[in-house]
Amino acid sequence: MEKQNENQANVQSNDLSNLKNMFSDYRKKAAPAKRRTGAEILAKYFVPRNTKEVFRILPPKQGRKHIEEAFFHVVPTLTAGGKKKYNTVIYCPAHNDPKVPKLDGNGQPELDVNGQPRLIPAPCPLCSKAKAILSKQDPSLKGVKKEQMNEAQKIVFEKNKEIFKEANQWEAKKFYIIRGIDKGAEKDGVKFWRFKHNFKNQGTLDKLLPILEEYMSVHQADFSDPNNGTDLSIIMTDSEFNGRVYKAISAITYRGKSPLHSDPIVARQWLEDDITWRDVFKPKQAPGMPPYEFLEAVSNGVNPYWDDSDANNKHWVFPGRPDLEAAANTRTRNLDADDDDNFEQASDIDEEEYPRVTINNITESKVGVYSDNAVDVGQSVLDGSDDEDNSSNESEDGDASSSGDYDDLPF
Ligand SMILES: [Zn+2]
Repeated sequence: MEKQNENQANVQSNDLSNLKNMFSDYRKKAAPAKRRTGAEILAKYFVPRNTKEVFRILPPKQGRKHIEEAFFHVVPTLTAGGKKKYNTVIYCPAHNDPKVPKLDGNGQPELDVNGQPRLIPAPCPLCSKAKAILSKQDPSLKGVKKEQMNEAQKIVFEKNKEIFKEANQWEAKKFYIIRGIDKGAEKDGVKFWRFKHNFKNQGTLDKLLPILEEYMSVHQADFSDPNNGTDLSIIMTDSEFNGRVYKAISAITYRGKSPLHSDPIVARQWLEDDITWRDVFKPKQAPGMPPYEFLEAVSNGVNPYWDDSDANNKHWVFPGRPDLEAAANTRTRNLDADDDDNFEQASDIDEEEYPRVTINNITESKVGVYSDNAVDVGQSVLDGSDDEDNSSNESEDGDASSSGDYDDLPF
């Protein structure tokens, strides 16, 4: 009898949490997320530039971490006026998207010994490029110690080193992302602070972690707690490297226990905001050119770009693709398009479900559990694919992620 009561209680609490979700879904539908313009997305980047910045780390949303990990390529791209921009930060599908079934020569999924589809990272032209370059290394030196090499081998060794360096430039890099509030720009709401992993332990994370740990042990509190957490002061300095000046963090300190915001309504808005880094650091693309092809173009040094260098003649440039260029520059909103975001479907279709496997012979049960390298299996595939139909606002959109990037110290 007692057991039964317990079960009933469980059932009840489950029902309630489902009901809560229902209310929250309806609220979202009542105020559907507006497509963000490039400028709005940029406002979601926290990029410390001033001599002193104040940042408050928000508690992670359920199932997420305080400090998330994601992967981006940092590569040269073409920008306005056909100029080369070094260090453009670009989303890597191989490291951030869910794995995909490996296909055999006939386009059928390969199965493992258990009859499950073999899963591989999503294709990424930039990762492939890095791999292809690396494969040019001369393998004859494997296992040979440097001090035992003869002159000819030393030359091969140096060449291998160059090849490694070149490949490394195209490889995806690990970044950390922290969700929080820029106390110098509270009106922008929740922002994302993204910085690169540093192999020499001299990066932002290496400055930040000891401070957060100290706060935790001194105050016996979570640094991100809305009541007992702390704002962080970030002191910036100019640092010169190879003749270029970079912004670098000279110190991070905590300011002491304080509420997230003096107005509980503002604090609640921030805490309840569902935005994730995937809404902000999206895969790059151009009109008529989906992210995969865009990455291919980047890998070949011919990526499309929005050219606003002549204020009287702003337009898209697609090197080597006059067809796409013409379409991009004459495009008007196509009301018959089948990628309409507002197209509503029956409520028993689960939009969150991923992946929507369309390959023959795979059913959901055969596919099994998907694992993923990145911290969260994202929506990017579902919601990041058609940024481009904001016909009135292409310039900002085309420009969004590039102008938001900044130069990290290159080591
Ligand atoms: Zn990649």
